[in-house]
Amino acid sequence: MLNTTPTPSPPSSAQLQTRSLETVWHPCTQMKQHETYPLVPIVSGKGVWLYDAAGKRYLDSISSWWVNLFGHANPTINAAIRDQLEKIEHVMLAGFTHEPVVALSERLKTIAPGSLGHCFYASDGASAIEIALKMSFHYWLLCGQPQKNHFISLQNDYHGETLGALSVTDVAIFKETYAPLLRPCTHVPTPDWRYAEPGESAEAYALRAAAVLERHLADNHAQIAALILEPLVQGATGMGMYHPVYLQRAREICTRYQVHLIADEIAVGFGRTGTLFACNQADIAPDFLCLSKGLSGGYLPLSVVMTPDAIFQAFYDDKTARAFLHSHSHTGNALACRAALATLDIFERDQIIETNKTKAAYLNTIAAPLAAHPQVKNFRNCGMIWAFEVETNDHDFAAKCFQAGLEQQLILRPLGKTIYFMPPYIISEQEMDLLVDGTLHVLNTL
Ligand SMILES: *Cc1c(COP(=O)(O)O)cnc(C)c1O
Repeated sequence: MLNTTPTPSPPSSAQLQTRSLETVWHPCTQMKQHETYPLVPIVSGKGVWLYDAAGKRYLDSISSWWVNLFGHANPTINAAIRDQLEKIEHVMLAGFTHEPVVALSERLKTIAPGSLGHCFYASDGASAIEIALKMSFHYWLLCGQPQKNHFISLQNDYHGETLGALSVTDVAIFKETYAPLLRPCTHVPTPDWRYAEPGESAEAYALRAAAVLERHLADNHAQIAALILEPLVQGATGMGMYHPVYLQRAREICTRYQVHLIADEIAVGFGRTGTLFACNQADIAPDFLCLSKGLSGGYLPLSVVMTPDAIFQAFYDDKTARAFLHSHSHTGNALACRAALATLDIFERDQIIETNKTKAAYLNTIAAPLAAHPQVKNFRNCGMIWAFEVETNDHDFAAKCFQAGLEQQLILRPLGKTIYFMPPYIISEQEMDLLVDGTLHVLNTL
């Protein structure tokens, strides 16, 4: 039979862009800038590539804000979501349960560091942080220590932008405006090796930073519920990287002073730093592990806070008031959990942690000219993250670099003057060549 219904032609780039600017308030954006810089209307994706309405393609070298692990339209994840869609898309998780959330919790328990056997779900990273902070405080309250209601974090840390998460964040551009709304929080010195003295090793500097943490907790531990940190890589501040010895020392110090350690692996979890979790490189387990972004392969909003039995048991009681009475409507969404299970299947099936080592070695080799570029400083790599600073006096550098990147079929979205790559793990050698060559071209034309 002939299908005579004409297919509507797809909207043009210009139409989509105009309609978007009228009604969509875009995140992390001064909307007026779009008078100068156009939006990029995306209509489809495949692997590392995003395609716009005009048929142009862009290499998603930052994994769509660090969430995508195995490419767009991944056949394995697509199939899992389709299958789940025919069963149950979502059901509330209070009073109900379902196979995908149970299976995911069991699998996360086996792969997480230490014995983090209890999974509390939410829909995004910032909510996971709120949960960890509230749970930590509530635990101490239940233990008869209500005065332990302060949190500390690392200088330059980023933990999300809801009020609680922003309180423990230390990135001025996100925080300054809202300072009157936030709880006070001490930020102890970052172990980021870019702050080391000339000649001081990354490890020696990390130990020096840990000594300051120790003094702070020795004096203030009675009031402190938890230390929250981004393990190994401080992402949003500009991919600051540090030596794992800091995590080892932080774990020892927190245990000694009865302060919880909250590991925010929202960005670094699921292989980004070269091990499944960043904490693995220090061989430590936190008291709270926060995961999101790559958890669902970047497909659907999902986050989780994992805790050991000792924390769970403190809330386990006949009294409702002792329970953790926190909820989000989409907690444990079945479609998102299936996407997460498919993501974990791919990690096992394709031995991703091992394959990524070969990919990272290749990119490091071909990036030598980039590292040696006269304008490039602090070229660094950790697992599947690369970053470097560009020496420039141009205050509009980030926006211009983004535009120049698009012309090279690349999505480069610098954090200030820091260019970084955080590609999906399915990137091929040929695509890595395009990434490095295109970036060199951008540097030489800006
Ligand atoms: C992205 C991020 C968050 C916040 O996650 P959202 O889903 O954006 O709320 C928190 N912590 C870290 C380390 C992140 O990178």
